[in-house]
Amino acid sequence: MKIDMTQINHHLTDGLLMGYSAGTLPEAFNLVVASHISLCDECRARMHEFDAVGGAVMEQQGDVPMGEGAFAATMAMINSGPEMDMPAPPRNAPSVLPQPVRDYVGGDLDSVTWRKIGGGVSQAVLPTTRDASVRLLKIPAGVAVPDHGHRGTELTLVLQGAFEDESDRFAAGDIEVANEEMVHQPVAKQGEDCICLAATDAPLRFMGLIPRIAQRVLRI
Ligand code: ZN
Ligand code: ZN
Repeated sequence: MKIDMTQINHHLTDGLLMGYSAGTLPEAFNLVVASHISLCDECRARMHEFDAVGGAVMEQQGDVPMGEGAFAATMAMINSGPEMDMPAPPRNAPSVLPQPVRDYVGGDLDSVTWRKIGGGVSQAVLPTTRDASVRLLKIPAGVAVPDHGHRGTELTLVLQGAFEDESDRFAAGDIEVANEEMVHQPVAKQGEDCICLAATDAPLRFMGLIPRIAQRVLRI
């Protein structure tokens, strides 16, 4: 499926982009960030800026102490530099899964081993380091995921279809960053199954008895 970049409305935060650039995120989050960047020109451009700042700071360390104005000087240096050559990813790839996810799955959607987790929802947990977890979720059209809060951060990248929750609507290419304060109930829109890539760095906190059972089944 082709994702129209101009349709992406929900992007990565600067904190996530910086963490990715600095290599401080858990592997599961790296995968979601890399996947969004592979689809989104805007975030890819900002990522290159963070990479450039990080590289310039590293070069200055050791010989020159970072004095007042060093950051401004670094930014001026970067801004006066040549336009960076950023090859765009192929836009007509027929796949649903972005390349970083295909690398984990070993192919596109037909290579995914789905496991049913109740309510018609299926998931495929991808192997990563245990400080966070990441899974593909398939939510049938019109179906709701139990409403839940988060003890940590949850990143959800839509790969196909769309979902809506209390905060907004998220379509292919969009990323939702949910945090501690947020309780939400995502509902897949009618007409097309919703496929998402979702990473969490702490167990979700489901509300009510049946969702708690679902939590055990979900193993999250
Ligand atoms: Zn973006
Ligand atoms: Zn959530």
